[in-house]
Amino acid sequence: MNKRVIWLIIGVMSMAVIGVVALQTDLILTSIRANEDAFDKNVQNALSAVAERIEKTATSKDAMLVINGYSVDYVPSEAVVGLGGDGNGGMSIPVTGITSYDLVNVYSPLEERIDAAILAQVLKQELQNHAIKTNYEFGVFSEDRQAFIIHDGYYVADNVQPRTQPQPGYSNLSLTDYSVTLFENDQGEAAGKLKIFFPEKSRVMWSALLPSFLGTFLFAALILACFGYTVWVIFHQKRLSEMKTDFINNMTHEFKTPIATISLAADSITNPRISGDISKVERFANIIKQENKRMNSQVEKVLQMAQIDREESKLRLAEVDLHDVISRAVENIGLQVEPRQGTATVVLRATNPIVQGDLTHISNVVNNLLDNANKYSPNVPHITVTTSDLKDGVQVVVSDEGMGMSKEARKHIFDKFYRVHTGDLHDVKGFGLGLSYVKAIMDAHRGTVEVRSELDKGSDFVLSFPRRQDDGRLVMT
Ligand code: ADP
Repeated sequence: MNKRVIWLIIGVMSMAVIGVVALQTDLILTSIRANEDAFDKNVQNALSAVAERIEKTATSKDAMLVINGYSVDYVPSEAVVGLGGDGNGGMSIPVTGITSYDLVNVYSPLEERIDAAILAQVLKQELQNHAIKTNYEFGVFSEDRQAFIIHDGYYVADNVQPRTQPQPGYSNLSLTDYSVTLFENDQGEAAGKLKIFFPEKSRVMWSALLPSFLGTFLFAALILACFGYTVWVIFHQKRLSEMKTDFINNMTHEFKTPIATISLAADSITNPRISGDISKVERFANIIKQENKRMNSQVEKVLQMAQIDREESKLRLAEVDLHDVISRAVENIGLQVEPRQGTATVVLRATNPIVQGDLTHISNVVNNLLDNANKYSPNVPHITVTTSDLKDGVQVVVSDEGMGMSKEARKHIFDKFYRVHTGDLHDVKGFGLGLSYVKAIMDAHRGTVEVRSELDKGSDFVLSFPRRQDDGRLVMT
């Protein structure tokens, strides 16, 4: 797939997810607003019902007769005889023989007309009737006194003077949107306001929709995670396929030279001018053999890797003397570095170089690392192999002073088919299989391989071999 198409799909997919989340959020916010509206309506209805009920209970007590300028307690109209009182402890006189009277409604202060306990109870009932279950704080505000006179079912003592300053401790109630006028039909100054505040209102609104909200983000996150993983797989596969293409190109290239050489040598042998010269025939036959060997070793490398892939290869465990293996391998590489004026040195510090392992594979590992140290030293190669004791094993470090590698390369060099892409590397032959083989073999031995490398300074490959292998596990992982 084209890289641009992948990025386009990523863009579209991200926009789609963002769109879904935005729409869902909008939907949830709309629901919250609708819930809020319903809640507000219910509260207002409950408050109106409370106001109505409170007014009804209070009216019968409040109406007083004022007869001939004196107020009397309310009495049935057919027997307007008795002692009057102005309700404020004022003077009262016996009333007899009423000839004319004014019937005036006079209102006693709110706190006398409203029974705080009854108000609390009525409010509770009405809120319940209107399906409002959250906690609340309520109060009755007297217009007359400009202060709250009842708070949560209790009378609040306050000085009688009308307030000019805001009453402390009632900020929530003062600012609440929920209020209803009590005794609305009375003269303005006698009226009061029942106010109610819900401290947990927003929590209640949100808690109903929290699951949807969390669900939306959770599923969006899941989709994004899965999508991210898919994209990663696509890029990973893409890289792998690129590396495989590289590998095939490399391999074709690697085989082309020996095939051409063999073809030339074969042509020469069959040439009548040469076929008579036995020494020449021998020389060309040797070339054919050499090139054949080279091809064979390359095929072998590929096959080994395939074997490891199929987990077919078993370790043939034996006591392996790492110093022996290293000495032989360094001798071999010495033959290649000496013509380049390079050096290959061993520093054998391990006191016990014997480990349990597969001799062939361990030899291949050391040879691969030495090969690389030589291959990737564009100037004069200086290679050192150092051994040292580990707590329960042996460490082998293969160092070179070659081209080194970048941090990015260090992350991938043990991947199959990975090769650093640089122009001047083109003439260095390889399939990108050597280090992945090293890694697979070290894993199979329950050992490790690590790289320390800096660009243009050189590289150290650190192998750690455990002393023993557990007997049950002889198959490579
Ligand atoms: P190959 O050598 O066939 O390319 P390897 O798996 O052995 O494959 O190595 C993978 C890559 O790691 C190489 O292409 C090279 O870029 C880098 N590399 C390996 N060894 C060294 C080294 N000693 N110094 C610098 N780069 C190295």
